Amino acid sequence: MGQMNPEEWTQQALIDSADAVWGCDTIEKANSFIASLPTPMCLPNYVAGKLGLPVLDATATFIDSYEPKTGKLLYRLPRAQEKDVEDAIRHARAAFQTWSKTTRSERSVYLRRISELLQENRELFAVWESIDQGKTLERARIEVDRAISNFSYFSTYIIHEQTAARMVDGVALTYEHRSPAGVFALISPWNMPLYLLTWKIAPCIAFGCTAVAKPSEITSMSAYLLGILFQKAKLPAGVVNIVLGDGPTTGAALVASPLVDGVSFTGGTQTGIAIRRATAHQIRKHLSLELGGKNPTLVFADSMTPATRERTIRIAATAAFENQGEICLCGSRIYVERAAYEEFLALFTEYVTKKYVLRETMGAVASAQHYSKIRGYLQLAADEKATFSLGSFPPSVEEGGTQGYWVSPTILTDVAPDSVLLKDEIFGPVVTVCPFDDEADAIRLANDSEYGLAAVLLTTDGARMRRVGEQIEAGLVWVNCWLVRDLGTPFGGMKNSGTGREGGEYSREVFTVARTLHLPAY
Ligand code: NDP
Repeated sequence: MGQMNPEEWTQQALIDSADAVWGCDTIEKANSFIASLPTPMCLPNYVAGKLGLPVLDATATFIDSYEPKTGKLLYRLPRAQEKDVEDAIRHARAAFQTWSKTTRSERSVYLRRISELLQENRELFAVWESIDQGKTLERARIEVDRAISNFSYFSTYIIHEQTAARMVDGVALTYEHRSPAGVFALISPWNMPLYLLTWKIAPCIAFGCTAVAKPSEITSMSAYLLGILFQKAKLPAGVVNIVLGDGPTTGAALVASPLVDGVSFTGGTQTGIAIRRATAHQIRKHLSLELGGKNPTLVFADSMTPATRERTIRIAATAAFENQGEICLCGSRIYVERAAYEEFLALFTEYVTKKYVLRETMGAVASAQHYSKIRGYLQLAADEKATFSLGSFPPSVEEGGTQGYWVSPTILTDVAPDSVLLKDEIFGPVVTVCPFDDEADAIRLANDSEYGLAAVLLTTDGARMRRVGEQIEAGLVWVNCWLVRDLGTPFGGMKNSGTGREGGEYSREVFTVARTLHLPAY
């Protein structure tokens, strides 16, 4: 972290930088652009339709962001202070006056245009997301496609949405009328930066609200690109504003502001608790909290027949290691029916070894801090004498070093039943594999967690799919599949994995307020 140098921050420099970044739609072009810079680029905020500077005074500081695959300094971003956040909120409030009164079909056109522009620039977004977050380019493309779907889905949802009407016989007709709920703070984490931010922005503006969004300080690049894209889409000024900065300064100022009507947050459970605390006295504020998970994958012996075991292994491995295990929905606790345990472990280890090759099909983890956290858990595994069936204890790395943050896929077995390795969310390419005795034991183990976000159930027994599936304490249960999503289904977690659901009509609950009108029958 250093003091700002206003010379580096002229408007022209910001425009030139935006043009140059927008031209980099291959990894080679992006790397040669980065290498050509005399000093790392600075990402601006996007407020009132403009890429702009925060207030530059003695309190202004900026944050360094490093490239996970190399460990090198990639860019700087301003740490937006309370006054910068207030300025963005004021613009969002002003825009709300007109945006909330636009028709759904007008808003639909903007969302469609944004989704088309994202589609046209799919490779550009994928390239920068891969560089910024550490994920593979292939994985980044999948997430850009999902971001495109976020806008296209809500662009059509709002023009087809229905509302409930009821008759009170001979007395009255009642119907639900919904209004946009106001200005929202949209806060997203670093694991799927573009996808998760657009999962909030798209419904927010579709339902007539306006936003101040804050990405994670670790991965702000795609939010910056999104600001440029909103300019190109001619989205009216102030409808979406993006402030950059860290959680304790920028995020905290944003959620606590009395001028913000709602918060849609995705991130860790502890941060969710802090947000609930900070807003406890603002009872009217809408809160949607999508939090952490420690998700079980249950492998029943019936899914390990010669006809099905390839699928079982593939799904369990994908759920564990996709995006380096940095997906809140990853199945990081695998429980296998004892009769199939040894066979599963052997085939699973063989499959993961071939499929997840570091630097090829598996990326780097997002930051030095996160790398150290994962390393700490692997140290604990070694101390507790767990078996590393795959992977080993990684070396220490530093921010600004040259190695990057690479953690090999790791499979831990012989883990003590009370170990924190089975309780804490490690959020990396680390999975535990443990046996279970019978169905009741499997359900008990799956539910033995403070979290309840997702679960994977691998079985060919149709009755068991429902019997077990309906007892698992998780907001999302996937049977013989993983990460399948229909954007209309409720997304969210039970227990400490969150409050509220988003998706289709569930997002409408978050971003609108309902009033019931009663019209008399006379
Ligand atoms: P954090 O909770 O640390 O951060 C999430 C976001 O909140 C970041 O933008 C962060 O800013 C910001 N933030 C931090 N403190 C505050 C605060 N006091 N007030 C307001 N905003 C704040 O999570 P991570 O970024 O580490 O993400 C990983 C977590 O996200 C995991 O627990 C994972 O399970 C969860 N997650 C949940 C998902 C779900 O749908 N349930 C999906 C994806 C991830 P900054 O980073 O700049 O400090």
